[in-house]
Amino acid sequence: MTAIATTQVPDAISSIHTDLFIGGEWVPAAAGDRFDVLNPATGEVLAEVADADATDARRALETAAAHQAEWAATSPRNRSEILYRAYELIMSRVDGIASVMTAEMGKPLAEAKGEVAYGAEFFRWFAEEAVRIGGDHTTTGDGGTRIVVSRQPVGPCILITPWNFPLAMGTRKIGPAIAAGCTMVLKPAELTPLTTLLLADILVEAGLPAGVLNVVTTTDPSTVVTEWMDSGLARKVSFTGSTEVGKTLLRQAAGTVMRTSMELGGNAPFIVCADADISRAVDGLMLAKMRNTGQACTAANRIFVHRSVIDEFTEQFTAKMAALKVGDGAADGTQVGPLVEPKAVAKVASLVDDAVSKGAAVACGGEAPEGPGFFYPPTVLTGVGLEADLVRNEIFGPVAAIIPFGDADNPLDPAADDEVISLANDTPWGLVAYFFSQDVDRCARLSTALEAGMVGVNTGIVSNPAAPFGGVKESGLGREGGRVGIEEFLDMKYTATPIRR
Ligand code: NAD
Repeated sequence: MTAIATTQVPDAISSIHTDLFIGGEWVPAAAGDRFDVLNPATGEVLAEVADADATDARRALETAAAHQAEWAATSPRNRSEILYRAYELIMSRVDGIASVMTAEMGKPLAEAKGEVAYGAEFFRWFAEEAVRIGGDHTTTGDGGTRIVVSRQPVGPCILITPWNFPLAMGTRKIGPAIAAGCTMVLKPAELTPLTTLLLADILVEAGLPAGVLNVVTTTDPSTVVTEWMDSGLARKVSFTGSTEVGKTLLRQAAGTVMRTSMELGGNAPFIVCADADISRAVDGLMLAKMRNTGQACTAANRIFVHRSVIDEFTEQFTAKMAALKVGDGAADGTQVGPLVEPKAVAKVASLVDDAVSKGAAVACGGEAPEGPGFFYPPTVLTGVGLEADLVRNEIFGPVAAIIPFGDADNPLDPAADDEVISLANDTPWGLVAYFFSQDVDRCARLSTALEAGMVGVNTGIVSNPAAPFGGVKESGLGREGGRVGIEEFLDMKYTATPIRR
């Protein structure tokens, strides 16, 4: 328990366990190392947490593996009730959890509270799914053999989460793993371990038996995760993060033919058609672009606007962006928090500079302020050319790049649809696509033609625990949430029994 007491540290942090959580106990890293967790709004140290190495990693996974058989034998109702209790505990502590999240990753408190409710809902959803794991029963064509198809937990799982949704990315994996009867090792992002450590405590309080969930924090993810991937003890890896790391994990998973779920990067197109309801599209883009200060895999990255409505759209959108209040997420009225680290500010600034050097104009924002904190202002770029680097890269910041398409004098020309579909699909990623149109045929055409795992039609938000979240192409494999979310943690078993007559 080594939280550093300054006036900036929320009360909830001082009670968080900052060691590794292995076998139901809080233990320091074997080598005794620790690392700092910073507040990106101030640059101040919030806490020091245990910095694990390969020895700690091995111990955590061996613990998970040792508890697998016993955990798999528990009743679905028991697992369901643990999840439901954890859901209730989280919902009874929204403010405290949100304050920790805001402190360690920067999102404004109102958004952090939204994530707490969203994250908790995965536990409620999978509490309901735990008791609905089904199977199938039929006979062979000749009637001579009974076929019973059942589902069993896949086995010990490796769960790896990113920093941008520190609670929800954890509950989206832990929820189905618990429901299915899998034990797990979990490695949160090194920038945001505190929310996960708090969550582990809540699961203990909810009655999760020792050894089912083991949490390992580290500044050396490659060493820790490679130890797990190569061990032969894990049967599944579920990863949310960048496509680059996802590809490394897929290569490693091949070594032991491990099941994989990959929730990777995105490069979402956001399309405003000539027949869109403009103010609705503006509101949709504010959500799709600015959620989490633009640091979301689902963030609108390339904004294609039909030339016949581009002036009206840009004017309304820029006015809203310029009016946003930027500041410490913990302060009253803040709508846009800092980026997560100085590197992120440098990356966003260089993408903006590159686009401007290639002919884009800055309608608002465009310059990082002096510190303290890691801020970048809401920025609108117009006339962005397809050669700009941000067209091919995730911006991961509060920068909206507006790219024109179509013929200004011919708004209903169907050739504009072909043009924008081809522009939107011209990326290796395919997580989510958004479009705004009031024409029912155009809606049907675009939602079919866009290469994405998820499509938002006249909405800037698609994430929901009841929906299957995931991408196509290099945005990933598998789905989280929805009816299929639990399947990722279950193996199918077919049992043949001859029918004796
Ligand atoms: P990241 O890939 O750098 O890190 C994600 C996690 O992987 C962290 O826990 C990190 O410590 C770990 N990691 C880093 N290097 C590793 C290695 N060599 N081996 C094993 N683990 C390693 O990504 P990030 O910067 O934390 O998150 C942003 C990325 O995540 C973006 O690309 C974003 O689009 C993506 N993301 C995707 C989804 C989704 O559901 N598809 C959701 C949120 C974020």
